[in-house]
Amino acid sequence: MRPIYLDNNATTRVAPEVLETMLPYFDRLYGNPSSMHFFGGQVARKIREARAQVAALIGAQPEEILFTSCGTESDNAAIRSALAANPQKRHIVTSRVEHPAIRALCAHLAGEGYRVTELPVDSEGRMDMHLYERSLTRDTAVVSLMWANNETGVLFPVQRAAELARERGIPLHTDAVQAVGKIPIAMQANAINMLSISGHKLHAPKGVGVLYVRKGTRFSPFLIGGHQEKERRGGTENTPGIIGLGKACELAAQNMETENTRVKQLRDKLENELLARIPSSRVNGDRSQRLPNTTNISFEFVEGEGILLMMDEFGICASSGSACTSGSLQPSHVLRAMGVPFTMAHGSIRFSLSIYNTEEEIDLVIDKLPPIIEKLRSLSPFWKRGQAVCQGS
Ligand code: PLP
Repeated sequence: MRPIYLDNNATTRVAPEVLETMLPYFDRLYGNPSSMHFFGGQVARKIREARAQVAALIGAQPEEILFTSCGTESDNAAIRSALAANPQKRHIVTSRVEHPAIRALCAHLAGEGYRVTELPVDSEGRMDMHLYERSLTRDTAVVSLMWANNETGVLFPVQRAAELARERGIPLHTDAVQAVGKIPIAMQANAINMLSISGHKLHAPKGVGVLYVRKGTRFSPFLIGGHQEKERRGGTENTPGIIGLGKACELAAQNMETENTRVKQLRDKLENELLARIPSSRVNGDRSQRLPNTTNISFEFVEGEGILLMMDEFGICASSGSACTSGSLQPSHVLRAMGVPFTMAHGSIRFSLSIYNTEEEIDLVIDKLPPIIEKLRSLSPFWKRGQAVCQGS
């Protein structure tokens, strides 16, 4: 069965052009880019090209691009580096809705004696900028705020947050794993110090990431070893992955327009039709400040896992909560932070699209999902009780 893949915030298909670019670097051009001979030199040149391609996508300079193994490593490296650069400061500002790559790290650092402020969000997943400003103190070593939320797609005003941090001499890191390739990013025109990217979220393979480090930002390496990445990240490079990521960034720049027109239109059609056809459903998160590809919809009084299982029979792939939290029946920390009512949070599904989705696929989901919800509700004692209460009142 061909999947109808609407789970692109979990991971994406490697673009055919990316795969084609990578393949020679597994078997024919397998040299080590650090080697002195011509065979390694040609790989080193291709890595330089990839660095320039990544830099071009986010308006950075190639020297500011540091290749890592994934978004999680980039996030860890950024925070650890900022703390090492300011050892006398013991305070970290972040939010309650960050990905575990930041949240779990901050919880770990709290165990080491750091003070962590996790900023709350409102019912739409938005951050309060006054609260943010008030949280910055003389003791703050680093701010880490995600650019786009992986579960709801809601965008944080990270550029404004970075300006406010810079005025106080505090570096700001942003986890832009879900934002890069979907919305325009211009590092030359903002005050953000560090930014994380993950290859597998933008049609490059898994196992490659980037940490952007602004020129002039004090940086202390996370992985200490060889001289690779100008001694900022030891370890022989994942050459096919890096070269693939470079190509993926070039494609992302070309596809940005499609992402914000056709993909957005498909997302809006899916969202509007499901809301119209399914009673007691709602969108989680600020619909006006959101990624173009993501919608998180709650269907009251049903279990997200039940919906996923029944959609699976039609080959429809989506997520309940984030990919990293599915498997646990707790509503996601993001929906809890937004105060989404329990009966709604349990039945939340994230649909995340890509340029490879078609209108036929969206129409099929619009057709298949309403009867699935109706069937699950017919089995739910909570739904029956809820309906009785409504009719009685
Ligand atoms: N940050 C965000 C917002 C994510 O969505 C993810 C992955 O889901 C990560 C970080 C982790 O990236 P990686 O899977 O490359 O470690």
